Amino acid sequence: MSSWLEFYEAAGLTPVINVSGTMTSLGASIALPEVAEAMSRILPRFVDMHELQAKASETIARLTGAEAGFVTASASAGISQMVAAAMTGTDAALIERLPSTDGMKNEVIIQMGHVCQYGAPVDQAIRLAGARAVVIGTSTLSLDHHVTGAINERTAAAVYVASHHVVEYGQIPLKRFAELCHAQGVPVIVDAASEYDLKGFLADGADVAIYSAHKFLSGPTGGIVAGKKELIRAGYMQNIGIARGMKVGKESIFGTTAALEAWEKRDHAGIRARERAALDLWLEAASGFEGVTAAIVPDPTHNPLDRLRLSMDPAKAGASVYAFAAEMARGTPAIVVRAHEAELGWIQLDPCNLHDGQARIVAERLSDTLKKAAKGELKEPDIQAMRNRSVTAYLSWPD
Ligand SMILES: *Cc1c(COP(=O)(O)O)cnc(C)c1O
Repeated sequence: MSSWLEFYEAAGLTPVINVSGTMTSLGASIALPEVAEAMSRILPRFVDMHELQAKASETIARLTGAEAGFVTASASAGISQMVAAAMTGTDAALIERLPSTDGMKNEVIIQMGHVCQYGAPVDQAIRLAGARAVVIGTSTLSLDHHVTGAINERTAAAVYVASHHVVEYGQIPLKRFAELCHAQGVPVIVDAASEYDLKGFLADGADVAIYSAHKFLSGPTGGIVAGKKELIRAGYMQNIGIARGMKVGKESIFGTTAALEAWEKRDHAGIRARERAALDLWLEAASGFEGVTAAIVPDPTHNPLDRLRLSMDPAKAGASVYAFAAEMARGTPAIVVRAHEAELGWIQLDPCNLHDGQARIVAERLSDTLKKAAKGELKEPDIQAMRNRSVTAYLSWPD
């Protein structure tokens, strides 16, 4: 048995190869060895947590160009904490008053096309702080007047989401959105949880940019908040209030700092080449099947990352992409593909989270599964059940 399978055997867990991207439901990403090492080094020790977060702030500032930063339990927690910060500032009495916002500005503007679902609704992260999410524009069109018309004396902040989850067109670009908000003194909080660009959003006018530590950075589960010092301090200070229930441990702060340091030194070109080799292997494995089209496609938000897009015409390929995805996940190891766009007739394979040797296992399963499809051996799953599985998986848990 190959060594990566031994862990699963010993723990009694299903082995998983993740070609879906960094997914919370699968344990996010492969943490780097230097991250794991930093975390185990700090776990048995006491530290001054303010000092530890101040060190993290230095590293975050260096990588993002921000004045300051801190580590949170997650990007989602970071959104709630920074919305809270925009309402309370550094007033401890107001911080303890949340989620009641009596006496505070409490409206937060967000474009309708940005109200996405990343495992939970983004507007809930706003509302969790006690704020009211003021959704502006329509799903496919927001214009300047939607921003200016929504800003009033109760407006505390605006949230801007940079993500493949948001509507791809019709949204106000960040630079313009920030100009409109800043003209009326409204700070802009950018959710850039899974974006690789650590500097661009702040450079384009964001007052705060928020990232996940456990996505492209290959860190521990955590969030990174970077921005203007006064606002960042107010966000950090929510730890005496609503953020107590979103507590981040010393190991995640230290592990996140290690992940950021590793990012500075990472062999980005080498990783890109390795990912390209996996994509080429899969492209080859998917070729020659009737009704199946495979293509290497760029990331929709321009992260330096490509994926393999596999389209299937059920009438010719013998099965739909739903049946294909279900069959890939049914085998041992389970291979989880990126299927959130299956309604469009394609799934994708993401090469970012592979251990050595896994790309080949995926290639073999890929062509075996397409062969089965061609022979009519795949059963079409219940598509509505597949669509709702993020909820139904909870309803049958822990059985
Ligand atoms: C993943 C993601 C989040 C949530 O990040 P966590 O760190 O897992 O809380 C928020 N927004 C977007 C756009 C995401 O992709």
